[in-house]
Amino acid sequence: MRDDDCIFCKIANGEIPAATVYEDADFRVILDLGPAAKGHALILPKSHYKDICEAEHAVAEKLFPLAARVGKAMKTKLQASGFNVVQNNGTSAGQTVFHLHVHVIPRYDDGPAMVTWTPGSAEPEELKSIAESLKAAI
Ligand code: AMP
Ligand code: ZN
Repeated sequence: MRDDDCIFCKIANGEIPAATVYEDADFRVILDLGPAAKGHALILPKSHYKDICEAEHAVAEKLFPLAARVGKAMKTKLQASGFNVVQNNGTSAGQTVFHLHVHVIPRYDDGPAMVTWTPGSAEPEELKSIAESLKAAI
């Protein structure tokens, strides 16, 4: 499925040019226009899903292996020492383009160590109650 108003549908299907680093029947991997680090890549499914919850299993199950291949290439070809695999779902999670995509962000020893957050705290009872609630829904 394709969404005529979606820029990532157009890029993934080759209607708008992008710096492509990989392509197969299901995916195009491009370089992000606003890279968090040199070589920041985006894995775009060729089909339109707004987020990971909408994705067909057959596509979703290929995302992690492909992210690993892209990350390994960053380590061998860009001398990255690590990489982040990031995938945002929903505005509150930082998603700005509503076509499923996975960020693969190379990290370098002299660069910023992101993605980060400030650890909070939680009481054991609260953790137990949250776990029970989620367990019932997954
Ligand atoms: P997200 O915030 O997870 O939705 O990420 C969207 C990403 O897409 C951002 O990192 C943008 O820099 C990137 N982006 C938006 N438009 C383009 C484009 N035309 N080509 C390449 N990257 C893009
Ligand atoms: Zn799309």
